[in-house]
Amino acid sequence: MAENTKQKVKGRFAPTPSGRMHLGNLMCALLAWLSAKSQGGSMVLRIEDLDRERSLEKYRTLLIEDLDWLGLSFEEGPGENGPCAPYDQSRRYPIYEQDYRRLLPRIYPCFCSRAALHAASAPHLSDGRVLYSGVCRTLTEQQRKERMRLRAPAYRIAVEDTVIGFTDGVQGWYQASLAQECGDFIVRRADGVLAYQLAVVLDDARMGITQVVRGRDLLSSTPQQIWLYQLLGFSVPEFYHIPLLTDPEGKRLSKRDLDLDLGILRQTYRPQQLTGMLGYLCGQLPMPQPITPAELAQRFDWAKVPRQDIALPRSLLSDLSKL
Ligand SMILES: [Zn+2]
Repeated sequence: MAENTKQKVKGRFAPTPSGRMHLGNLMCALLAWLSAKSQGGSMVLRIEDLDRERSLEKYRTLLIEDLDWLGLSFEEGPGENGPCAPYDQSRRYPIYEQDYRRLLPRIYPCFCSRAALHAASAPHLSDGRVLYSGVCRTLTEQQRKERMRLRAPAYRIAVEDTVIGFTDGVQGWYQASLAQECGDFIVRRADGVLAYQLAVVLDDARMGITQVVRGRDLLSSTPQQIWLYQLLGFSVPEFYHIPLLTDPEGKRLSKRDLDLDLGILRQTYRPQQLTGMLGYLCGQLPMPQPITPAELAQRFDWAKVPRQDIALPRSLLSDLSKL
C-alpha cells in the first residue's frame, strides 16, 4: 500500500474517573501514546463515565492533570475538544441510540437475577466466568410482558454460533467460540446504562480509532467486541493487550493500592523519572533513566514489550515507603 493512502494511526486512552490513576493506568496510557506517536499517529482521551455513581468530577480533573504532568498530550478529547465530540461517554447517549437500534433484532430482555445467573448449575468457564444459558431468549411476548411488570430487565444480544479469532499485537493469536465461551452478553443494564462491551465498540468505531491498547484482562472479551464491529459494519482496529503490573509477589495492583496512585508518585518522582521507570519495566530501556515520553517514542518497539505480567521491583516500593 502506498504511504499516502495508508490509514492514519489513531490511538486512545479511555480511563474511568472512579479514583486517582495508579501506576498501572499510567503504564497503559503511556504505551498507547508511545504506540500511536511512534507511528506518526494521534491520540484521543475519552472519559468512560457511563457509571455515573462511580464517576466523580474531581477524579476526571485529576486524571487530566496527571496525564499532562507526565507529558502526554492528546489531539482529541476530553469534553468537546475535537471532531468526534463529545468525548465523555455519559454525554454520548444520543449517538449510541442510532447504533443500538440497528442491533434490536438480536436484542432480548433478560429477567434472570444475579443469584440465578451464578447458580451452581450454571455452566462455568475455565476462567471462572459464568456462561449464560440463554433461558430468556425463548420467552414469549406474553411472558415478557408479565415479567416486565415485576422487574426491569437487562438486555442481552443473541450471539451467533461462530468462532472469532484475531492476532493480538502483544499476546499473539487468540480465538473464542461465541456460543460456547461468551454466550449471549448484556448490552444494556437493568438501570438503563449501556454495557461497557457495547459502548467501547461504538465509541472506538465512531471515533475512528485504529488501535486499542489496554490491559490483558480484557483479552477474553475481545472476540465478542470484534463480532459487534462486524455486525455493525465497522472496520476492526488492531488490539494490543498489555501485561498487568503486579506487586513483587505477583498480586495484581488495584485502585485500592493507594501508595501507588499518582498523588503519592508525584511527590517522589519527576515526570521524566517515572517515564524512565515505566519505559524500563516495558522493555524499552536497559535500565531506568530519566526520559520524556516524546524521546521514548523515538525508540518505541512493541516487540520488546513483555507478554507476561510485570512485577514491580522492591526498590520502587521502598523508595515510596520512605515518604
Ligand atoms: Zn435471563
